[in-house]
Amino acid sequence: MIAAPQVSPFTPPRRTLMGPGPSDVYPEVLLAQARPTVGHLDPLFVAMMDELKALLQYAFQTQNEMTMAVSAPGSAGMETCFVNLVEPGDKVIVCRNGVFGERMRQNVVRCRGEAVVLDFDWGKPVDPAVVEAALKEHPDARFLAFVHAETSTGALSDAQTLCRLAREHDCLSIVDAVTSLGGVELRVDDWGIDAIYSGSQKCLSCVPGLSPVSFGPRAVAKLKARGTEVQSWFLDQTLVMGYWSGAGKRAYHHTAPVNALYALHESLRLLANEGLENAWQRHAAMHQELRAGLERLGLEFVVAEAHRLPQLNAVYIPTGVEDAAVRNRLLQNYNLEIGAGLGALAGKAWRIGLMGYGARRENVALCLKAMEEVLR
Ligand SMILES: *Cc1c(COP(=O)(O)O)cnc(C)c1O
Repeated sequence: MIAAPQVSPFTPPRRTLMGPGPSDVYPEVLLAQARPTVGHLDPLFVAMMDELKALLQYAFQTQNEMTMAVSAPGSAGMETCFVNLVEPGDKVIVCRNGVFGERMRQNVVRCRGEAVVLDFDWGKPVDPAVVEAALKEHPDARFLAFVHAETSTGALSDAQTLCRLAREHDCLSIVDAVTSLGGVELRVDDWGIDAIYSGSQKCLSCVPGLSPVSFGPRAVAKLKARGTEVQSWFLDQTLVMGYWSGAGKRAYHHTAPVNALYALHESLRLLANEGLENAWQRHAAMHQELRAGLERLGLEFVVAEAHRLPQLNAVYIPTGVEDAAVRNRLLQNYNLEIGAGLGALAGKAWRIGLMGYGARRENVALCLKAMEEVLR
């Protein structure tokens, strides 16, 4: 016998989460998750799933039938788009201006697609002129893949223009909206986005572990026309949709994360109550307050103002200041988490998130007060 470990219940402290995600979770969402678990084929749960789909369609601004939440984090949403759509030999133009563009490239390679990588400086948006030239140079490309809101740098790319270019060159667009959904303007149908994925724990302020995904008609047609089976059984959308859109006859695919879906339902309901445009506006307003305070402290932004994400503020660490010591003191003394730099910005920048429920005045005030005292 292996002896039973003696452990106490885990009682986390109440932190203020102002990093790159997870963000502060709405109190209502935490309560929703604690409600009684029902069977995932229970008629009441199925009715909740129908509402959840309508709420996701609202958040994405789409009428796409194939709109659902993958039962896994944002990375699984990314993988869902690539494994379902990219077939061996398909050429994919991948824009890389941070960590997540590189992950898209790795997904293409694992699907045995051919990745044509376009590199942009970290902290800069994807340049549509470079993308247009690449689309002309590669008329056989089937996809254009890019990150709308690059969480590793805080740069926002022009998804509307990029998706229009993809369409003009007969490419399907695959868009990473993990950090953008709910935080900045995003219109899937108006912008002609073909496949998009997001995450529950950034600007939706839900618990981590779910990934909203939506496929438009052109993506669905590509999926249906596949000559090979989707290599992942779990992420195969043709199987999953039997569960999400059974029209009264839902079939078992996997056990839905019932309580996590209550949480997503509640966070999307709160977003719908606030109104998408109001949420975008609130993120912008809180960003302006934080920006003014950070600049008073002498901190400089990584991204130029025109391309800055309100929900992810990357600032350079002043010379002579010890990165980890500052973040540790914020955590110990103020229960405040901010993000470290990632990839090329590791040790060089901090990433301060203003995501979802976290984008509010008291968080901005706490962050500025704590940073001022710790940096002094
Ligand atoms: C966080 C993030 C992901 C990955 O999401 P996980 O939930 O951590 O798997 C992907 N893309 C971007 C832009 C992100 O910010």
